[in-house]
Amino acid sequence: MQAIYLDQKGVHYQADHEPPTVRAGEVIVDVITAGICETDLQLAQGYMGFSGILGHEFVGIATSGPSKGARVVGEINCNCRKCPRCLSDMGNHCEYRTVVGIDRHDGAFADQVAIPQTSLHLIPDSVTDDQAVLIEPLAAALEIGQQIDVSAVRHAIVLGDGRLANLCAQAISHQVDDLKVVGKHDLKLDRFRRLDIETIKLGDLVCEKAFDLVVDCTGSVSGLPLALALVEPRGTIVMKTTVASEHRVSLAPIVIDEINVVGSRCGPFDLAIEMLQADRFDLSGLITHRFPLEAADQAFKSAVDPTAFKVVFDVMNSTVNKKYAEKQDN
Ligand SMILES: [Zn+2]
Ligand SMILES: [Zn+2]
Repeated sequence: MQAIYLDQKGVHYQADHEPPTVRAGEVIVDVITAGICETDLQLAQGYMGFSGILGHEFVGIATSGPSKGARVVGEINCNCRKCPRCLSDMGNHCEYRTVVGIDRHDGAFADQVAIPQTSLHLIPDSVTDDQAVLIEPLAAALEIGQQIDVSAVRHAIVLGDGRLANLCAQAISHQVDDLKVVGKHDLKLDRFRRLDIETIKLGDLVCEKAFDLVVDCTGSVSGLPLALALVEPRGTIVMKTTVASEHRVSLAPIVIDEINVVGSRCGPFDLAIEMLQADRFDLSGLITHRFPLEAADQAFKSAVDPTAFKVVFDVMNSTVNKKYAEKQDN
């Protein structure tokens, strides 16, 4: 099968990768569409030391099990379901977990991916493939509301104007009247303005400790020092950024200003699907670039281009197209 593989040599396309091996409880999913996220870009730079097939944001069709033939998305944490954390509803923190496309589990930038049946969620007909491929990051954005009481926030600021920043801002905007987004790129900030979210160009930002909630979605080591400069005493910083490089920042302000620093990762898929059904998120136009898997190099280049927003691989279409092309050749 086709796959986009990461090893010491970097990210590369393989036309003839072995199909996934199925472990107990897993289902093979035929991938329809899969999205590149900031984590993939960090993995490509050595974050987590991952080698294998990349990709953890996807929608596909289950080929076996109770969801056979249906459109599904998959949670990315593959838990043991037996350890004390799994038994106390902390499966995303299972010590024995593997993570699809991130940690010892091949991902979805391939024709097929193996996912535990228990991680699959059915996609209702009213949710399109292009919406469904964004459910994983959307769930991650909704995790903020699971961790802190967003309705009690008076002044919030999201740092970053990229993909996750957009979803996090939308998730918060339902509950916070005073919400600002700070970013570097006019084209990306325009997307927030269209949603009636106030934006600030990074160069125009006045660094005052004026926000009781700061969400770092910069994907950069510069995010945390900026967050510390903006959060008011006893305020909360939600960290959504994971980077391959190390942070060098003085943590004294956390103590002096009694700051609450909340690490935030994966979130509730069910809620994300419900929100999409209820039309609570505007995901239109978020996907700016589409590629077949064989254009891996071009796709990864596009994903870091400031004019790009979400870059996806149309896997099933490209496979169908390829089969069609082969038929035409014969
Ligand atoms: Zn991701
Ligand atoms: Zn476990």
